[in-house]
Amino acid sequence: MSVLVVGSVAYDTVVTSAGSREDALGGSATFFSVSCSFFTQVGLVAVVGDDFRKEDVQLLKTRGIDTSGLDQTEGKTFRWSGVYDTEDVNTRTTLDTQLNVFSGFSPKLTIKQRKTPYVFLANIDPDLQMSVLKQVEDKPKLLALDTMNYWISGKNRSLRRVVQEIDVLFIDEAEVRELANEVNLVQAARKIMDSGPSVVVVKRGDHGLLLFHNNSTFVAPAFPLERVIDPTGAGDSFAGGFLGYLASSNDLSPESFRRAAVLGSVMGSFAVESFSLDRLMSVTHSEIEGRFREFSQLSQFMPLDDDETLPWRSYT
Ligand code: AMP
Repeated sequence: MSVLVVGSVAYDTVVTSAGSREDALGGSATFFSVSCSFFTQVGLVAVVGDDFRKEDVQLLKTRGIDTSGLDQTEGKTFRWSGVYDTEDVNTRTTLDTQLNVFSGFSPKLTIKQRKTPYVFLANIDPDLQMSVLKQVEDKPKLLALDTMNYWISGKNRSLRRVVQEIDVLFIDEAEVRELANEVNLVQAARKIMDSGPSVVVVKRGDHGLLLFHNNSTFVAPAFPLERVIDPTGAGDSFAGGFLGYLASSNDLSPESFRRAAVLGSVMGSFAVESFSLDRLMSVTHSEIEGRFREFSQLSQFMPLDDDETLPWRSYT
């Protein structure tokens, strides 16, 4: 297994401008692992309740995801519900978060899981993220983490502590400002990098992303879609494509990180084309590859040759 993810497996109730869904399969670890499974082997560590549907475990298995770390216990599965702004897909309001079985969850990694080279601490309680991190034996090749405002405000100290230990932080635009207590995005990302991570990826919804990697900065647009059905899971699907590419290529060069960011954006763009995991389950390799190729055309332009200058106006 090359990627291990710990995060939420959930039932989501969402309302978007395209409609609504109740108790649909979701969760940070779910979107991540399905997206990542296109590129590499993924093992999932999470907990669900006794109400978790058999067909949902089956769905993960059909993608070849190792579900041996998916603990089923007495109680209710984690539930999240949110509503998206009808004018702005980047704005959502959480209506309800019920941790349910997650409130008593204490993940125990197997020996095999402890040796996984790529580890993703998906959005979940930072104390759980830390407990997984402590169990990982040798330092993994890459340790990445995602979080959200719920934990930034609710468990700020624990979150800061775990962020110090990781290599890659995925974070939304508003959240990086909140975590760093800094309005300017570049300064906010740099401030977080000073505390530990060598890579910070700032996700800006349909405005694209900023990738800060050591001293370099990379920007990528979001794939321009005509219709967004449900933005839920875009960030986790992004992370799945990103880490899936890095783990599969086993290349951690700056160029590889840039490709990973673009592939992440491609996976996120498919995830939002339907509710829940519907589109990620139907998308084909050729569709993914086609969109990846199209991406490079989106912001390609003629660079200046070394001896060329801009066509300046002459005042004489
Ligand atoms: P994303 O849209 O990629 O940011 O993630 C959406 C997923 O995160 C949903 O499927 C939710 O089930 C899950 N989620 C929402 N709130 C939380 C939370 N506080 N902790 C863990 N997962 C959450």
